[in-house]
Amino acid sequence: MTTAIALFTRDLRVHDNPVLNAAAKSEHVVPLFVLDPAFDHVQDGPRRRFLVDALHDLDRMLDQRGSRLVIRRGDTVEEACRLAAEVDATEVHIAADVTEFAHHRARRLHDALTCRLVEHEAVHTVVPMGQLRPVGRDHYAVFTPYWRKWADTPLRSVLRAPGKLDTPDVHSFDLPKVREASGGGESTGRLRASKWLRDGVQDYADQRDILAADGTSQLSPYLHFGCVSALELTVRAREADAEDFVRQLAWRDFHHQVLAHNPKLTKTDHRTPHRDWADDADVRAAWAAGMTGYPLVDAGMRQLAATGWMHNRARMLVGSFLTKTLGEDWRFGAEVFARQLVDADVANNIMNWQWVAGTGTDTRPARRLSPIRQAERFDPDATYIQRWVPELSSLPAKYARMPWTLPGAQRRAIDYPDPIVDPPESAR
Ligand SMILES: Cc1cc2nc3c(=O)[nH]c(=O)nc-3n(C[C@H](O)[C@H](O)[C@H](O)COP(=O)(O)OP(=O)(O)OC[C@H]3O[C@@H](n4cnc5c(N)ncnc54)[C@H](O)[C@@H]3O)c2cc1C
Repeated sequence: MTTAIALFTRDLRVHDNPVLNAAAKSEHVVPLFVLDPAFDHVQDGPRRRFLVDALHDLDRMLDQRGSRLVIRRGDTVEEACRLAAEVDATEVHIAADVTEFAHHRARRLHDALTCRLVEHEAVHTVVPMGQLRPVGRDHYAVFTPYWRKWADTPLRSVLRAPGKLDTPDVHSFDLPKVREASGGGESTGRLRASKWLRDGVQDYADQRDILAADGTSQLSPYLHFGCVSALELTVRAREADAEDFVRQLAWRDFHHQVLAHNPKLTKTDHRTPHRDWADDADVRAAWAAGMTGYPLVDAGMRQLAATGWMHNRARMLVGSFLTKTLGEDWRFGAEVFARQLVDADVANNIMNWQWVAGTGTDTRPARRLSPIRQAERFDPDATYIQRWVPELSSLPAKYARMPWTLPGAQRRAIDYPDPIVDPPESAR
């Protein structure tokens, strides 16, 4: 009798999951998720709720196949080893991942397990993380050549969800309680992806930068927790001829391969070192609270606080504003994002922060986005600003974008801060 453990991490799905499919080749399979105190910082909030929903959904999907999700609590490696001994497992399957934590976990598992550890590639990403290399280098540092190569790379086949699974009766803790449903999980993720590919993706190129539009997929939390397979989404988006959208999925792979190559980039500058960051607690607090006096920046930060998600264009702007206009360290911004984003993803968060700060892979590291110009271009009617900064909701668009230009008495009547740094002469 052979028994394999499918150790789920952030691949919370039954469709197109190489980890589960490989484990399902054994006679018995134990789908395992460990509630590890290393992730206790993911406390109550939209991210935690999304994860809990996703675990419940995975349990239901497994139940339909005669199995269930076994929940253990503690250190992932110790718990996996304990369960492997209990069920006399022959193999433990896990997805390869990019962070230092994940590398260390895989090494520890490798050393501690008495059975075989199988690490699977192309579970979190579309193309296996170390597969594409330019001549003489171990990873791509610039996106465009990576994209060209990536777009031509043959992909593994999309895997069907396994049929019947035979799971032995082992102890499992209860799943954490759903306090407030958040829509997390594979079932909702697949529905959303189908709806997006049917009704939304055709307008992506035109709409994706319009801040007030519902013009992007909002699939990022599903992709982060693996409720939706990035590879399956890519295949389906190609069938829908959605090249611009596929390109964004390639950005995701790109960042993963950079971080996989150097996991220390969560802390250190990637390319252009920048050492003299300002460290002004008041400035940082105003930025994080959406109280900089720059409406578009504040709208982005308030959208994040209220919903756990922020539009990509706003992420770029608030990032550029924090690091380039205010001169504050990108690590601070990345921490604020990591605490609040439901889709907080080490590779995407860190490498995008490095990109906006000019320490990363941007080929024009000095570029700085103007909150005024960005508002004119991507929020011309100030709809996004007025949605998230209600203090400005009764103003004409021009003044909602630049409230400091209001005549004195009207300006004083609005309870909204003055700009934290002087606006450029042209915008006064
Ligand atoms: C400072 C900063 C921090 C960010 N932090 C994160 C993060 O923690 N987690 C995260 O998933 N994305 C992050 N992004 C990337 C991007 O903003 C989000 O992926 C996107 O806004 C999610 O919305 P969507 O699903 O509607 O995207 P869509 O436009 O529908 O794109 C589809 C998918 O492509 C991927 N994608 C899109 N843009 C990027 C990008 N620039 N880099 C990498 N992947 C991308 C995402 O997985 C996204 O879900 C960050 C961007 C910036 C500028």
